Amino acid sequence: MPQEVQGIVARSKGAPVTLETIVIPDPGPGEAVVKIQACGVCHTDLHYREGGINDEFPFLLGHEAAGTVESVGEGVTNVKPGDYVILNWRAVCGTCRSCLKGKPWYCFSTFNASQKMTLTDGTELSPALGIGAFVEKTLVHSGQCTPVDPEAPATAAGLLGCGVMAGLGAAMNTGNVGRGDSVAVFGCGGVGDAAIAGAYLAGASTIIAVDIDDQKLGWATDFGATHTCNANETDAVEYIKSVTGGNGADVCIEAVGNPHVYKQAFEARDLAGTVVLVGVPHPDHTIELPFIEMFGRGGSLKSSWYGDCLPSRDFPMLIDLYQQGRLDLDRFVSETISIGDVEEAFHKMERGEVLRSVVVMP
Ligand SMILES: [Zn+2]
Ligand SMILES: [Zn+2]
Repeated sequence: MPQEVQGIVARSKGAPVTLETIVIPDPGPGEAVVKIQACGVCHTDLHYREGGINDEFPFLLGHEAAGTVESVGEGVTNVKPGDYVILNWRAVCGTCRSCLKGKPWYCFSTFNASQKMTLTDGTELSPALGIGAFVEKTLVHSGQCTPVDPEAPATAAGLLGCGVMAGLGAAMNTGNVGRGDSVAVFGCGGVGDAAIAGAYLAGASTIIAVDIDDQKLGWATDFGATHTCNANETDAVEYIKSVTGGNGADVCIEAVGNPHVYKQAFEARDLAGTVVLVGVPHPDHTIELPFIEMFGRGGSLKSSWYGDCLPSRDFPMLIDLYQQGRLDLDRFVSETISIGDVEEAFHKMERGEVLRSVVVMP
């Protein structure tokens, strides 16, 4: 029997989100219904509401979530009812050209539920990032569920579902930060601070946080930054060179998605170093770089999709590190809110007041 639950919907471009009754079908083959316990508020949810991702309104928002599997459809073997899971938007297919090359973290054909959740009048919803988790229960592909230790609280665990994983993975997977490396992180919101935490975990000895907001630089220090630079007051490139023996950083992570900031990351990198772009650029932006420098500086310019994570490999490992006290996921949770407070949480995010507001379900 389809179930009716309450969830947060963006009905039209720019309009405030509304609490609506959502119809959740029974799970079909390969699908699972998950009872959501907590879901973080991410910039991407706001981008959906503003029509910045696509025009497929109405959207069921929310995608950084943890919860408990309620029921599964035919053929599901990776999870069972009662399992505690983190939801992901990279349910790898195993058969696309990237999976076949042994690089499933780039999977080009990830799975989502094939049935649609709807409003009570039958209008089909587009779930954010194929998840939709500001809702009591959601329908996903079973591959979007990664079981982890149920002792880890959902407010912390759910964050690995998107932004925090993107940042940790930008440092640990894409940037391949190692012991003794110098790392510069541009932009110290949730993703940038997670990149700092990832660089710290990986053993970087110098971690330089760059932002234009002193409060965010304070957060960055809490996550392991050894140096901070307010780019409004100090030339970031000069500063990074001054604290790395004049050389620049081994790994520069751009967590803003701004051409001007990317250029700084490019220039602040040591010879043969790596630039990682994890900030999402605006579709209209272009960038101009000295071509000879792209050759002359060597190294690599990489992009990080979702931290190049493999949920089945990375989520349980990171939950282990969290439970050992080595990765402070709780520090990302600025506040817990109820499902009716998502619109206000968007405004706090826009004003830069919070790292993460996390919706806790009743
Ligand atoms: Zn694939
Ligand atoms: Zn997100």
